[in-house]
This record gives sequence, C-alpha cells and structure tokens, in this order.
Amino acid sequence: MKNPQLFIEIFLAAYLLFLFILWLIPDTYYNKFYEIKNTDATKQTFKPDWKKILTEKVLFYKKLNPLQKVQFEQRLIEFINTYKIKGVDTSINDLDRLLIAASGIIPVFAFPTWYYKDLKTIYLYDNSFQINHPMLPNGTMLNGLVGYGVMKNKMYLSRKALYESFKRDYDGQHTGMHEFLHLIDMEDGQADGVPDILIPKAYIKPWKELIQKEIERVCNDDSILSDYACENAAEFFAEAGVSFFENPDELQTNHPELYRILELIFMYKTK
Ligand SMILES: [Zn+2]
Repeated sequence: MKNPQLFIEIFLAAYLLFLFILWLIPDTYYNKFYEIKNTDATKQTFKPDWKKILTEKVLFYKKLNPLQKVQFEQRLIEFINTYKIKGVDTSINDLDRLLIAASGIIPVFAFPTWYYKDLKTIYLYDNSFQINHPMLPNGTMLNGLVGYGVMKNKMYLSRKALYESFKRDYDGQHTGMHEFLHLIDMEDGQADGVPDILIPKAYIKPWKELIQKEIERVCNDDSILSDYACENAAEFFAEAGVSFFENPDELQTNHPELYRILELIFMYKTK
C-alpha cells in the first residue's frame, strides 16, 4: 500500500457510513432482523392460561403441591427458552411447547439445575415420520427419536404420539418421556441403560444385574413393561423410567426391587 493513511481514512469513512445506515433503518426492521438472527432473544414468559392447560393435561403437575407447581412452571419457562422447538411442515403452538417441556422436566424434576447438554433442537412432526439414517431400516415409521452421530443434539417427536402420551396417564407408555430418558442415559456418552451421573456408584453393579434379570422377564412376557424393553438395556431403562412415573403402584407391586432402585436414581417419590 503506497499510502496507508489514505487506506485508514477510507476504512473509517466506510465504517461511519455503515453506522449511519444502521441508524437510518427503522427500529422495527432492525428488531425483526435481530430476532431472526437470535431466536433465543425472543424469551417467553409464563402465560396466565398455562396453569389451566397444565392442570388439565399433565397429571404429574396436577399432583404437585403449590410450591412444587411454581418450581415446575419456572423449569418450564427455562426449558422453552433454552431449547429450540421447530415444527416440520407444521407450526408450533403453546400446547406443543408445554407438553414437550413437561416430558423433559418430569424425569429430572428432583434435579433443579439439570440441563440436557446434548440437546439443542426438538423437531415436531404432525404424525409418525421417517428419518433417513444408515442405522434405521428403510421405511421405518417413528413416533420419537433421539439423534445420534450426524444427528446429535436433535430430538424428533410425533405430535400425535406426544398428545396421546398425556391423554393415557396410567398405561406406562409415553413417547416424550421415553426419548428424554434416552438422553438422560446418554449423558455419560453411552446408551447402555446405566445413567452414571444419577446412579450411586455402589448401585451400578447391582443395577446392571437387575437390568439383565428384568429384561429376561420382559422377553418371557412376565413383566408389566412393554415388549420394547426386551430390545436392549437402553430401551429397558427408558421404558422402566416411564413406568416409574406413570404407574408406580403397579411397578412397585410387580417389580419391587426395580422400583426401589429407580427411586434412588430419580430421587423422587412417585407415590
Ligand atoms: Zn427408545
């Protein structure tokens, strides 16, 4: 550069011109641009009618005491403002947000600072869906999936399955919670049915042994857990967790040892 001072002057003039143009742009345009670039900046607050929706749709919330209800509501807002919820060929409404957040909060309600570190975006489909992934057989219809490998940080859910999960409160099946329980299991890097960060060290060995015994019972049709729990330890953990929160009485009566360890893992009294 022959004349560095001229270069600096041109640069400064261009910068001032840029600031001037920004100043000229009306606020509304600027805010719109800013919101698109920073979706996290559009923070939601708890709406007055959400209490009614939660009481009607989420039995876990309905059974909480008044102080716990306030805690649940705070966790809900935190959840909604932390993870992105996107509709796939559908738009997202408040009920979607509330039910997805509730599915994620219930299993970790006893841990106030819990954060799903491997989750960024939840994609909601209107109905069951297909995902192209080398690990999935072609044409598999899914109701829920936690992304792994190239799809890390993503969760996929069917709205129909999610809504039905909250309609049938005591059947021990819950698509939303099932997927979040997988994430809890995978926090330590492995989908092996052993949530290392939640389970006391002394219980890991007995837990692994119990998993094998209980899986055998599911596979032999001698368990209240769904057949899906027969697949492997990860599916077993997800289904056992759902049962713990959905039908604790039945679980304790038929699987007292399993119930006792789950109480220790989730640090929660479901009855
Ligand atoms: Zn699963």
